Amino acid sequence: MVVARNTKYINEVRHFMAHAGHATNAQILDHLRKKYQGLMPTTVHRITGRLVDRGELILAPVAINNVGRFDANILPHDHFHCLKCDRLRDVELPPRLLKDMQSIVGDCKISGRLTIQGACSECLKEDNYGRQ
Ligand SMILES: [Zn+2]
Ligand SMILES: [Zn+2]
Repeated sequence: MVVARNTKYINEVRHFMAHAGHATNAQILDHLRKKYQGLMPTTVHRITGRLVDRGELILAPVAINNVGRFDANILPHDHFHCLKCDRLRDVELPPRLLKDMQSIVGDCKISGRLTIQGACSECLKEDNYGRQ
């Protein structure tokens, strides 16, 4: 019984992450609780931990409040991080740029990816409406 329920939750987390792309444990919990009111935070923590162990999720750049979040895109990629709404968008840097970055760090080897911070187009749009 317990195993079957866990499998159900794991599939729900997989499904949500495939749709959301990036999310914190709290966001996953919020979403799943619409359907499963009694779901415990520790269950979600355990599931995301297991999915990271299995390589189905990777760690994404942390949210503004420094809370860790997960990424459903497990291929190496870079991010644009909106500091207003905290959303992440996957971006792919051209190889030319990666080569420039490598020459900047010289003999050091780059293994991590880049997070570009700013305000996303949706937040900028809202800002403009606010000013009118
Ligand atoms: Zn934004
Ligand atoms: Zn990502």
